[in-house]
Amino acid sequence: MASTAAPPLLTIEGLSVHYAQFRALHGIDIAVGVGEIVSIIGANGAGKSSLLKAIVAQAGPRVEGRIAFDGIDIRGRATPAIVAGGIALVPEGRRLFASLTVEENLMIGWHIGRRGGLDLAGIFDLFPALRDKRHQPAGQLSGGQQQMVALGRALMADPRLLLCDEISLGLAPTIVNDLYELLLSINRQGIGILLVEQDIRRSLAVAHRFYCLLEGRVSLGGRPDDFDRDTITRHYFGS
Ligand code: ATP
Repeated sequence: MASTAAPPLLTIEGLSVHYAQFRALHGIDIAVGVGEIVSIIGANGAGKSSLLKAIVAQAGPRVEGRIAFDGIDIRGRATPAIVAGGIALVPEGRRLFASLTVEENLMIGWHIGRRGGLDLAGIFDLFPALRDKRHQPAGQLSGGQQQMVALGRALMADPRLLLCDEISLGLAPTIVNDLYELLLSINRQGIGILLVEQDIRRSLAVAHRFYCLLEGRVSLGGRPDDFDRDTITRHYFGS
């Protein structure tokens, strides 16, 4: 369903994730092509975060299926090796170290990443609001600024594929607009983006393709223009 026309960057086949007795993902197939923005939509608990976490080996030990990045199965690799290979996650809730400075949080991305991309100066050019706050603890920043740090940390890892989990959650619409503009410019540089959002409208507006998850299964997939809003909503809620 909904395979990519671009050369494959990430190809997921038959991915299942179990947490104890509970199965969060039921053998799903997902693809992201080089330079694509692919959106994952779905209601609470549909399995969106589990998908992103499984890609970077953060979904616990019971993950089955094939996760191929550049044609090589990376399932079973440890998270640092996956990040060093070119996949970076902006996690839900940002997960910054609140007592470390902005600069120290950003440098974590550089240390675990590929070390070929943006340096601190480059990040401050992208996010000028962070420049003056570079020596402040990240926990003292506003929500929008913390999200900039989380995104900057991921970009410092020099990813070829960026995974974004609910980056707009709890932020003012103007800040979300800025973040999405930035995602588009990152994508124009050839970086693939797998975007998890509950805001269907915003996420489908930027996506080349999307998958809708419903209770751990892909209920719909394709280009956003292929379906009318009612069809997408029905597959989102399973009604
Ligand atoms: P949300 O939008 O609420 O973040 P989601 O689509 O990202 O939801 P997941 O977070 O992947 O969904 O969760 C899918 C299902 O797996 C949910 O029923 C959730 O309760 C369950 N789940 C997620 N993480 C764990 C865990 N560590 N242990 C047990 N169950 C979990």
